[in-house]
Formats: sequence, C-alpha cells, structure tokens
Amino acid sequence: MANATIGFVGLGTMGGPMASRLIEAGHSLVVFDTRADAMAPLAERGAAKADAPREVADAAEIVFVSLPAPGIVSEVAIGERGLVHGATIRTFVDLSTTGPKTAMLVADRLAQNDIAAFDAPVSGGVTGARKGSLTVMVSGPKAAFAPIEGLLTVFGRLFFIGEKAGMGQTMKLANNLIAATSLAVTCEAAVMAEKAGLDLKTMVEVLNVSSGRSSASDDKFPRAILPRTYDFGFTTGLSYKDVRLCLEEAEALGVSMTVGSATRQMLVMTASLFGSDSDFTSMMKCAEHLAGFDPAG
Ligand code: NAD
Repeated sequence: MANATIGFVGLGTMGGPMASRLIEAGHSLVVFDTRADAMAPLAERGAAKADAPREVADAAEIVFVSLPAPGIVSEVAIGERGLVHGATIRTFVDLSTTGPKTAMLVADRLAQNDIAAFDAPVSGGVTGARKGSLTVMVSGPKAAFAPIEGLLTVFGRLFFIGEKAGMGQTMKLANNLIAATSLAVTCEAAVMAEKAGLDLKTMVEVLNVSSGRSSASDDKFPRAILPRTYDFGFTTGLSYKDVRLCLEEAEALGVSMTVGSATRQMLVMTASLFGSDSDFTSMMKCAEHLAGFDPAG
C-alpha cells in the first residue's frame, strides 16, 4: 500500500499526529481541515491541501476522518459537499468518537454509493497518536478490511470488534465512560484527602500501588493535576460528548447508568465553571470548588 494517496480530514490534536505518521510511513496524503493552520504543518511535509471534503474523496481511495462531533462527521461524510460524492473514494474510516448511531447512519448512506465504512475510534490520547501506540477499535465489513489493516497499524494496536457498523464506537464509549468516571471519583476522593490535610503527591503514590489505582491516578494526576497545569490534552467538551453519547446508547438499549449520569453532571459543572475548551482534568478544580477548598491556601 506504500505510496498510495490517502485522504485525511480533521487534523487537530489527534488527526494531526496520525496524519503525520502516515507520511512517515511513506504514504502520499491529501488533507483537509477548516483551519488553515492545522493543514500547514502537513503541507510542509508534502501533503496536498484540498478545499473541501469532496476534493479529498476525488483524489483518494481510502479516506480517514478525525473530527470533533457526530454532526460534523455526518456533514463531512454524507453532507451536500461530503466525501460520499467523491469520484475515487472506496473506503471511509472514522477515527473519531461519534457513537454507534452516527456510524450506522453514515455506513448506510455510503453503502448506497458502494463505499465501505469502518468506525475505528482510538484510545491513548495525543501521546499515543504521536508514538503510534493507540488502541484502535475497528468495526465494519471484514471483506473490505484488508486494504486498511496495514494503515491502521501505523496508529497502534488493532482490535476487530465486529462487522456491524457502530460496534467499535460502542466499545470506545464504554472505555471513555470508565475513564471519565475514574477521573471524577479520584478527584472527589483527592479533594477529601486535601481538605483533611493529606499531601496530594503522597496520596497519588499510595493509590498507584494500591487497589484505587486507575488511569486517573497513574497518568492524569501525575501529568496534569499534581503540576496544576491541567493540560492532559483532552477537553471537557469532548469528554462530555463521549459520556452523553454513552448514556444515550445505554438508554436506547434499556440499560440504566446511575454512576454514568453522575459523571455527566460533573462534566457539565466543569464546563460551566471553566468552559468546554478547558482540559477535562479541570474536574479536579471543579471538585475543589464544590468542596469550598482552595489548594493555594
Ligand atoms: P480537535 O478539536 O483537536 O480536532 C478536530 C479537528 O477537526 C480540528 O482541527 C478542526 O478544525 C477540524 N474540523 C472541525 N470541523 C471540520 C469540518 N467540517 N471539516 C474539516 N475539519 C473540521 O479534536 P481532537 O482532540 O483531535 O479529537 C478528534 C476526535 O478524536 C474526537 O471525536 C475525539 O473525541 C476523539 N479522541 C480524542 C482524543 C484526545 O485525547 N484528544 C483521544 C481519543 C479520541
């Protein structure tokens, strides 16, 4: 597959480094993002710039997207000026977290134009995107999988979740609900400890060799909360979107999510206090605010 032209739409925090890795692996890219500054670094490394999603799909057989919200993925994939109208595209791969409903809608419409659709949401954050160590949760038609398999391994470790559109998305929503919930509850417990006079750094060290250990204590606290930088690289708005999509999916399946609903509420409060663009590790500041605790004394 080396040197085949690959399309990539959405070159943000995740899409930018993933597209870069494809260039490093020897592929020619045609890219599009609504932000010129997101396209510039890829163009400097040889990628061709397109003016619209359709132009990407005119040039490339395989098109990846990494976009912020389900409505944007639908518009880019099957909207009026979307990829569906491209002359060359045969395979569409959504790397975003958009939920199973959107994956099914998009796959159905693309199938009408003989375009195979895969949802392949990823976990591992910006570090994983840079290093090629993401977890990639793929679902889609196995018969059309071979041409994209090698490309997806450039991003990280693949798990084929199932053939039905949206199964990869359901896997990803479950993961992100758990990640957001462990962050929320670790923040609450940490604020209780702070308020009782415990040292937060010591607390995190203890948690990481005890049964309270999680991706929150192991990764998010050391990198973004202990140094009070709140720059883990995932926004409160995106985390809220993931938890909301997960609760919608659970409701559609008749599954109650009492704990998940509390996590959503925590994200709503964090967004209203610090904005949707704040890093989701700002949940710690939210928990401190709710407890009337000022870490600065
Ligand atoms: P981001 O906001 O940094 O990047 C999205 C990019 O899409 C931006 O560059 C934006 O300009 C572009 N865009 C928006 N509308 C567009 C349109 N109509 N046409 C073309 N480009 C458009 O978001 P991100 O953090 O890179 O996340 C992308 C997806 O990956 C989301 O679905 C997110 O949930 C998921 N994700 C993010 C992380 C993370 O740690 N950031 C981890 C795993 C999965």
